[in-house]
Amino acid sequence: MEKKTTENMLPVYDTLKKVFGFQSFRPNQVEIIRSILGGKDVFAVMPTGGDKSLCYQLPAKIMAGTAVVISPLISLMKDQVDAAVENGISAAFINSSLAPEETSSVYRRLRNSSIELLYIAPERFVMPNFLETLKSVRISFFAVDEAHCISEWGHDFRPDYLSLSNIVKTFSKVPVAAFTATATRKVQDDIIAKLGLRDPFTVRASFNRQNLFYRVKSKRDLTAQLMNILKRHASEPGIIYRTTRDSVDALSDFLSGQGIKARPYHAGLAQEQRKANQEAFSKDESHVIVATIAFGMGIDKSNVRFVIHADLPKNIESYYQETGRAGRDGEPSDCVLFYGREDITKIRYFIDQITDDTERDIALKKLNQMVRYASHNVCRRKQLLEYFGEDYTDKNCGACDICTGKVEKVDVTINARILMSAMSRTGQRFGTMHIVDIVTGADTKRIRELQHDKIQTYGAGKDKDKNHWRFIVDELLAQDIIYQDGGAYPVLKITEKGKNILFGKETVSALKREETKKKPHKGKWGVFEDYDKTLFERLRALRKHLADEQTVPPYIIFSDKTLHEMCRRYPAALPEMASISGVGDTKLERYGDKFMEVIKTYLKENPVISNQDNRSLDMPSGRAISKPKGETCEKTYELFKQGLSIGEIAKARNLAESTITSHIEQLTMDGKDIVIDRLVPPEKRDKISKLFLTLQSWQLNPVIEHFKGAVSYEEAKIVRAYMRRKTG
Ligand code: ADP
Ligand code: MG
Ligand code: ZN
Repeated sequence: MEKKTTENMLPVYDTLKKVFGFQSFRPNQVEIIRSILGGKDVFAVMPTGGDKSLCYQLPAKIMAGTAVVISPLISLMKDQVDAAVENGISAAFINSSLAPEETSSVYRRLRNSSIELLYIAPERFVMPNFLETLKSVRISFFAVDEAHCISEWGHDFRPDYLSLSNIVKTFSKVPVAAFTATATRKVQDDIIAKLGLRDPFTVRASFNRQNLFYRVKSKRDLTAQLMNILKRHASEPGIIYRTTRDSVDALSDFLSGQGIKARPYHAGLAQEQRKANQEAFSKDESHVIVATIAFGMGIDKSNVRFVIHADLPKNIESYYQETGRAGRDGEPSDCVLFYGREDITKIRYFIDQITDDTERDIALKKLNQMVRYASHNVCRRKQLLEYFGEDYTDKNCGACDICTGKVEKVDVTINARILMSAMSRTGQRFGTMHIVDIVTGADTKRIRELQHDKIQTYGAGKDKDKNHWRFIVDELLAQDIIYQDGGAYPVLKITEKGKNILFGKETVSALKREETKKKPHKGKWGVFEDYDKTLFERLRALRKHLADEQTVPPYIIFSDKTLHEMCRRYPAALPEMASISGVGDTKLERYGDKFMEVIKTYLKENPVISNQDNRSLDMPSGRAISKPKGETCEKTYELFKQGLSIGEIAKARNLAESTITSHIEQLTMDGKDIVIDRLVPPEKRDKISKLFLTLQSWQLNPVIEHFKGAVSYEEAKIVRAYMRRKTG
């Protein structure tokens, strides 16, 4: 049984490598593809950068007929088609941006059955002429991208999408796959009903973006703080979000004055200008885009290395969506939020203008959650995921300022009592600012008028500054010792738990955080980290040159991830180049030589590099793996490529399975084309690699014990080899 599915799936793995250049699937991809190939409808929620497009591009390549992709973003269609064509897929699009003769040419190709992948905008579906053409050709399946646009409950409803409910009625035998990055359960049900999906195979993927590093900084001297980050990310692409058009313009001017290639983007600019700025960014000509939230929907750029929020966002949904634009290629990327309390007042001002009571309350609640996120001493990733209803149980995510910072536990019971006493003595009728004024002994008009300078706690905490007391307020809020009550001008009140502390029955401690100065080099994040930066600059220049020649964005030629891997493994011969993730047959043929040329020259200039083992590790290696002889490995490799399982190879060669496993292990480590999904399914592999990372050791026993028999030694070994190959 097991073997049969593997065999059936062989063309799928073959296409994955040959067309897309990838060795293995990401979680959920293979299941989705299997469903589409089996003629089953699909509904999938996967985060931005969750690798959705491969789920329909791969079956489009394999299945007979044309796959039709409906996508709302005209601006993205061209890039997606260009990217598919670069991979050797026969792809095209039809939308209003095409000239009439271009449209007819696509129609002609469609009728000739020479299009594997066709992108269209939703409004095509009400055009009888288009529908007739579709009916006359063989359609392999439909893919609806950004499927949440069909739901009025979603945040981005597009009436055009309603016409898509015709698909199932008109093409009753063709499978339909719907994809989105955002859908609550309610929106999910609505999408399935509106599209009329038939008992779809459903996926709700985790929203965790492992490669994003989240950090919050208090906003002090913003421009200096920004310059610091930009220095670290010199000439890497990134987005800085600001709230107002003026602040966008001012910051963009400032950065340009500092010699940084920055451009502004906001709704106040002429459309032409906006388009030009976006394009410059997309083509790596300008590095930084300073933008209001008007910027984002239309970008698919995969190598955004940082997203900075220079002002506090209104809610976590927007924050998560905006940070999600970083690191789509899976490479480590930074998300920095600058948090200043004055931003809260500004957002409040806008919330106050909302006339509908319920709406205003919701907005306020969301703002408070955002504030909590920024001020709470809890793993950022955990907070974000829990906001979206996902349980995150890892003790240390390894990629946020909280988890990687130095944390010191301090007793703040006395501080808490001073604050709560001030609150209690003033009837729990005042907000943070006023309470902090009382304890620090501020001389304000309001304090004098209310005679709050007469109460016992007035000035009781003046040895510490206001920042300290705000920190205490935030901590007490976060620990549910006090809470905020009331709409626009909330007052601080004491909870039951707070009373216990105030009356000396309980103590309270807070975590004071100190950011570690250097970037963490080990751990989950460190795994992707190192690559040869000098070589990267050269390869990047070549990529830019090639991209300009063909007027496509550079990341369509090769992603940063692919270049980074080249800068770790220095492929100087065709087979090595072919084994780099992201190098499929078409790209190998088109660009392989050019990139190898640069690499070879570089190696000649730096002979030291070619002599060292580039696959060394910085994790403790446990027991050394003895290296099997090349020849016997080769034989195993041959049989494996023919589709045999480890057991079958062992039988055929009359060797022990453990021997064959060690061959596979070696082959994998050597970066050979071992399709790991055939050996360990992606979900399982994910779990195993995560554990290795958490344990920070390559020892097998703890892993085997942890999974209590669910994972075999062989599986753990192979995953380990796979990880070490990638680490190299
Ligand atoms: P989204 O879900 O946002 O549409 P994309 O489909 O654009 O995400 O994919 C994000 C990135 O992941 C792309 O650069 C794509 O090439 C890459 N990718 C997709 N599948 C794989 C895979 N199996 N292995 C490695 N990279 C992959
Ligand atoms: Mg997409
Ligand atoms: Zn964390």
